[in-house]
Amino acid sequence: MDGCIFCKIINGEIPSTKLYEDEKVLAFLDIHPIKPGHTLIIPKKHFENFVSTDEEYLLPMIQAAKKIAPAIIKSVGASAFNFTTANGAEAGQSVFHLHFHIIPRFSKSELKDWPEMEGEQPTRIQIADAISKIYRESLI
Ligand code: 5GP
Ligand code: ZN
Repeated sequence: MDGCIFCKIINGEIPSTKLYEDEKVLAFLDIHPIKPGHTLIIPKKHFENFVSTDEEYLLPMIQAAKKIAPAIIKSVGASAFNFTTANGAEAGQSVFHLHFHIIPRFSKSELKDWPEMEGEQPTRIQIADAISKIYRESLI
């Protein structure tokens, strides 16, 4: 897609440090790593986010992650990794071409727990009912 930085990386218009490539997938090092070895895995076709990506690209992306993650963490001496994606700006997505992050982790203490919700909340039953209803309606 015109103007998309990751499409430009795919097309070779801007450089990247490639780690893995196949017909559908490219993996390269993040330019602003959270930890050494921080890697991005992208589909070689422009999709905005996880939900809008064709399944024929999602499965190869996950297969690629499974293949390269052990080498990534071994190469930097990490013991674990996070495998994440931000779906939408409010979730922290800043590049709107789907990417999975592989972020090596070295010590449990470097991670903060996510804060728990505060204040009055709908019950879990109410939330689950609403999700099931909307999902069932989306199938019709
Ligand atoms: P997001 O914030 O969307 O979850 O992640 C986008 C990631 O892309 C960020 O971690 C950012 O550092 C990385 N990034 C943005 N532009 C470039 C680039 O031109 N090259 C590389 N290698 N990574 C980039
Ligand atoms: Zn793109």
